[in-house]
Amino acid sequence: TEACLAEIDAAGALNAFCAKTPEIALAQAKAADARLKAGDAPAMCGIPLGIKDLFCTKGVASQAASRILEGFKPEYESTVTQNLWDAGAVMLGKLSMDEFAMGSSNETACYGPVVSPWKVDDRQLTPGGSSGGSAAAVAADLCLAATGTDTGGSIRQPAAFTGIVGIKPTYGRVSRWGVVAFASSLDQAGPMTKSVRDAAIMLGTMASNDAKDSTCADIPVPDFEAALTGDIRGKKIGIPREYRMEGMPAEIEKLWSDGAAMLRDAGAEIVEISLPHTKYALPAYYVIAPAEASSNLARYDGVRYGHRATLSAGEGIVDMYEKTRAEGFGPEVQRRIMIGTYVLSAGFYDAYYNRARRVRALIKQDFDQAFAAGIDSILTPATPSSAFGLGEMKDADPVEMYLNDVFTVTVNLAGLPGISVPVGLDAKGLPMGLQLIGRPWEEGDLLNQALVLE
Ligand code: GLN
Repeated sequence: TEACLAEIDAAGALNAFCAKTPEIALAQAKAADARLKAGDAPAMCGIPLGIKDLFCTKGVASQAASRILEGFKPEYESTVTQNLWDAGAVMLGKLSMDEFAMGSSNETACYGPVVSPWKVDDRQLTPGGSSGGSAAAVAADLCLAATGTDTGGSIRQPAAFTGIVGIKPTYGRVSRWGVVAFASSLDQAGPMTKSVRDAAIMLGTMASNDAKDSTCADIPVPDFEAALTGDIRGKKIGIPREYRMEGMPAEIEKLWSDGAAMLRDAGAEIVEISLPHTKYALPAYYVIAPAEASSNLARYDGVRYGHRATLSAGEGIVDMYEKTRAEGFGPEVQRRIMIGTYVLSAGFYDAYYNRARRVRALIKQDFDQAFAAGIDSILTPATPSSAFGLGEMKDADPVEMYLNDVFTVTVNLAGLPGISVPVGLDAKGLPMGLQLIGRPWEEGDLLNQALVLE
């Protein structure tokens, strides 16, 4: 813990941590020492972690990287972080992210961008997003692992950009209680780690049945680490032809076929499959996610949490709402609220929101049919390219940034588990990741297959 705290101080230029909690960390580390000595030590005992700013941590600023939550210190602890502390893990501090987890580059954080520890000729790169602080901190060895959340790729894309492992579990595997909501039907928390084994151990600790989240499934949490046998003989792994996008860099194509070869060499059968509704996933996601966000973010009214605008004489409560929200939300969050409000409005609800929901059902059905035909998992690239430069996308059309999520959003729409594993480096020397998509509730099997790619 002390070594990590020193590393965090030395790596301030990365801007990964938005709050440090050394007193809490040292007290937890001491308690963990005592548990270790007493011989009562689960695997996470004494492990120093970083926590994404989206998780509510009792008495510690939890701001979702937004000005609107300035000064908000929750009265309660999220279920996921409580599970980690109960297992003896140590909190080093809070990690930056895109504001309200909306973004793919960590550039929308109110704390300023996070810098990836990876570089090309001194050019600064994005660690990806929205869990960019988590990815940078793990990749730069500032902590042993970190929590992330994933609504459309926010664990898997930054993991791929920084050469670490990230898994989004099945929807309902992990409690969302105390995790600031972005799009409630898509959000899941998961671990971001240095290895597949660490991910298995940490996911097992984060997951629990939780009556405080009605969508958290009441099913047992298996021992994911025990599933890591490395034996994948006889597994049937699908390569979806619709993910072969036009203009895909040759390096990503090669990575994908190298990954398939690694799995085949380990005894898996590789088969081409079709997921015909894939091309509608990104538009459906960018209707559903903003719709849910616009509803979830209605609670930030300047009364109950964080920032409140200063009013001039004669201004009333409506002015207060408007001014507070205009000052508190950044441009990307405002854009999402406007899109969401539009697609939910009386005249457009059927044309946009309801249609997107029907498309979502078809996307899920594609996966269901593949699994029913005996496919155990599906191999795809995690991202359409390796990490891009900081500032590079800033002035581009926002849709350019949304295209980064093309391989990841299907998994959230279908509620499936997906893992990103670092598999190689591109010609610039930057990490690239592959994604394996698993059957619902089969994270153990998925992690075991990912072990072969690692
Ligand atoms: N990049 C996607 C978005 O901006 C996904 C974000 C996420 O998974 N939280 O919505």
